[in-house]
Amino acid sequence: MQRTQIAGLILIGVVLVIGIVVKHTVKTNNDVIFAAISDYTEKGLWELPRKSKYFTYTYSEGSKLKAYAETSGWPGELERGFGKEYLDNALQYANRISDKSYSEIRINKELRENAINIYFFNSDRSTPFDDYKDNCAYLGFKNIVICDINLIRNVSLVSYIENELESTLEGQHFSTILDNKPSFRKLVLLRHLGPAHNVMLWVIGHEIGHIASGHKTGHFAEANGFSKIMQFPEETADLEIEADQFAFKSFGNTETRAAFFWAIHEMTTHEINKQLLAKGKKLDVNLKDFNDPILLKVISKTHPPMLKRLLAFGVAINRNSSFNADYLEKINENTRLER
Ligand SMILES: [Zn+2]
Repeated sequence: MQRTQIAGLILIGVVLVIGIVVKHTVKTNNDVIFAAISDYTEKGLWELPRKSKYFTYTYSEGSKLKAYAETSGWPGELERGFGKEYLDNALQYANRISDKSYSEIRINKELRENAINIYFFNSDRSTPFDDYKDNCAYLGFKNIVICDINLIRNVSLVSYIENELESTLEGQHFSTILDNKPSFRKLVLLRHLGPAHNVMLWVIGHEIGHIASGHKTGHFAEANGFSKIMQFPEETADLEIEADQFAFKSFGNTETRAAFFWAIHEMTTHEINKQLLAKGKKLDVNLKDFNDPILLKVISKTHPPMLKRLLAFGVAINRNSSFNADYLEKINENTRLER
């Protein structure tokens, strides 16, 4: 045997061994996370996205909004009202586009192989799920989605809403004013609670979209080339848009979809305000005449920064609709990512 042939054989051997080791490691990681999930379920350590004290009030006895809250649901409520309706839509839609048949969407419950299993953990405690801190991700196996409740709280702007409500209230009692002033109730509902709820459902619907569209965790890997809309690795960006479209379509009829689009719009404004505030600039920007460049630092490996996601989503929805928000295109182009 010649030396080159021997070298060739050794090389093939090495490649095979590396292949086996890599495959084994991937399997082991899934096993470890799966064991941690089972353990968490057994000990009852999962939590639900935290509700604002203002949202919680609406469920209490004596509140005139109780009946409304029971039927419509509020941010943080996934098992009744609007939250339940959304998850039912998402399940139906998932079964329509996928060749699998999903039985139900389970939240924080014992895992079932043919269900979509969503788990919420609290990253304020020490958990085995540090890799998913400030994230919401499909794990790529057994239809498991794992979410940090702090991400949900941040993206649905709960703290921002509380601050804004507090300044509007100027010391008056929230419960009294909410019960007695229909105009204030409307303001709270339309301007704040509706968007907060919608954005939370978007994040969850997006992950269900990854499952229903048959994506793998492999899509999280970085690749060369950037998508024009998302400016994130091209293959990943296509999958992200597919998952977002799924989340959008799960909003059912045109009215709820429009409400959702304007929620995204409101969030985008808020995120840009946050960016400007960091640079010490003025607040409360009007998106229509906003021209400043924005540079965002990429931190997460799995998803682009929130503002980029909001813009990419807003642009994609606006292109197929009559929302007249073409100015989002320009803002999106001016918003670049930095690694
Ligand atoms: Zn995604």
